Amino acid sequence: MLELRKITKTFGQTIAVNNVSLSFPPGQMVGIIGRSGAGKSTLLRLINRLASTGQGDILFEGANIGKLSGRELRAWRSRCAMIFQQFNLVNRLDVLTNVLIGRIGTAATLSVMFKYFAAQDRAAATLALDRLDLLPQALQRADTLSGGQQQRVAIARALIQNPSMILADEPIASLDPRNARFVMEALRRINQEDGITVICNLHTLDAARAYCDRIVGMAQGRVVFDGPPDKLTRQAVQSIYGDAGDADVDENLTSTLGAYPPIPAASRQAELADAGY
Ligand code: ADP
Repeated sequence: MLELRKITKTFGQTIAVNNVSLSFPPGQMVGIIGRSGAGKSTLLRLINRLASTGQGDILFEGANIGKLSGRELRAWRSRCAMIFQQFNLVNRLDVLTNVLIGRIGTAATLSVMFKYFAAQDRAAATLALDRLDLLPQALQRADTLSGGQQQRVAIARALIQNPSMILADEPIASLDPRNARFVMEALRRINQEDGITVICNLHTLDAARAYCDRIVGMAQGRVVFDGPPDKLTRQAVQSIYGDAGDADVDENLTSTLGAYPPIPAASRQAELADAGY
């Protein structure tokens, strides 16, 4: 169980996160939605300690995350693997090596420079790539892959960290609808098969509705909605996206997934092959 207690984080005069208290039971898939600037990214960065601690406490299995340092902090960062909008792969390295980086936490170590990894790490990376339907691309340079493929490499890299949770910061914001769907399906599958908690920042509603058990809506640093997708009424959407009028809300309702709503798992494999993956 991850627990945030009265978290506040300011940058100068800006209150990025304002008195947020949330609990995340293990195994949930949570979508955090809200306008740009609502505080979603800062919240994830506080959990992972990429942002320096603000006020309040972040607790995980009895440990106070804000107080970790050194080796304990590195271990925590491995346990809550982070995925970014821009994938953060090392372009000049092949896909397999990019995944292996997940085992050591940083690209700057000698092992990466000499591409030396233990056989069991290579086996784990190969398995992770297979789960993400990327085995054929294992030896390609990362920058030869499509955006959707690169994001799935980032997910494989997160997976071999053996994380308790995956924090995904706008993972589909740079992707076309079809690739956005593949990435969300991969996250959902990992969440369900491995019981890994997934907390995912999304700026549109349709992906959160389609894939998440729970939606947290943020506005101006505060949590203004917290519940299952079917409780997300039009009024709740207004409270998240503001009262700038229906046209504005409708714009936020327009889908990232576009003409590609979730498809049954059985047809997924065929469609991947069809798309040349
Ligand atoms: P979101 O992810 O919902 O778009 P952010 O968490 O990125 O929102 O930002 C919340 C607010 O905090 C914004 O006003 C943003 O400009 C500000 N902010 C975030 N990070 C920093 C930073 N490192 N320095 C200054 N202001 C920041």
